[in-house]
Amino acid sequence: MIEVRDVVATYDDVVAVDGVSLTVADGEFLLLVGPNGSGKTTLVRTFNALVDPDAGAVLVDGTDASERPVAARTSVGMVFQHPRDQFVASTVGADVAFGPENLGLDHEEIDRRVSESLAAVNLGDRREATIASLSGGEQARVAIAGALAMEPDHLVLDEPLTGLDDPARRSVLEHLAAVHAGGTGVVVVTHDLRDLSDLADRVVGLVDGQVAFDGPAPAAREDLAAIDVRDPRC
Ligand code: ADP
Ligand code: MG
Repeated sequence: MIEVRDVVATYDDVVAVDGVSLTVADGEFLLLVGPNGSGKTTLVRTFNALVDPDAGAVLVDGTDASERPVAARTSVGMVFQHPRDQFVASTVGADVAFGPENLGLDHEEIDRRVSESLAAVNLGDRREATIASLSGGEQARVAIAGALAMEPDHLVLDEPLTGLDDPARRSVLEHLAAVHAGGTGVVVVTHDLRDLSDLADRVVGLVDGQVAFDGPAPAAREDLAAIDVRDPRC
């Protein structure tokens, strides 16, 4: 469980997150939406101590994320907005293995995790491929597999659909649904609610660093229109 308690996060004089409280249950599929600059990326980065709050705290399974960042990063896996920035190896298999290798797991366990994570995003047959040879959609799925290989309780994806064409987008959505069905909590930061609101349990809307909406996904559409998150390209 992720508990965000009265979190304020600033960059110099910019207040990016302005007093947010939020609890994300294990296994929950949450959408975090809001206009550009509303603080979505900053907020999710506090979940695993990539950003430390200036006030308030984030507890992951009851432990302060800033005090125990390794524990927080084990529980909360993050897929960044531009997967390209996240790759550390030149082949798919080596990249997905990198995280588990750093956990000090034995070879058999690493191999199992790499196989299962790649199978979960339907890239089981691309293990030896170079990342550079993959399409944008396939690269997005490798980034997801890399996070899954850490077997996190929560998978957080920051704008995972940006720049993907329709088939790639459908494929990523399908795989997110499957990951969720397997019991992993999913948090998707997005501008683009198409299809996603059917998958999610809950939608949280941020405006100017504050929670403007928090409710079940089916009820969210009108409220979301009011805070201007319909345009998939803004
Ligand atoms: P979103 O993901 O919703 O677009 P961000 O969390 O990226 O929002 O940004 C929230 C606010 O913080 C914006 O005003 C943005 O300009 C500012 N901001 C984000 N990252 C930085 C940074 N590294 N340095 C300075 N200001 C930043
Ligand atoms: Mg962002």
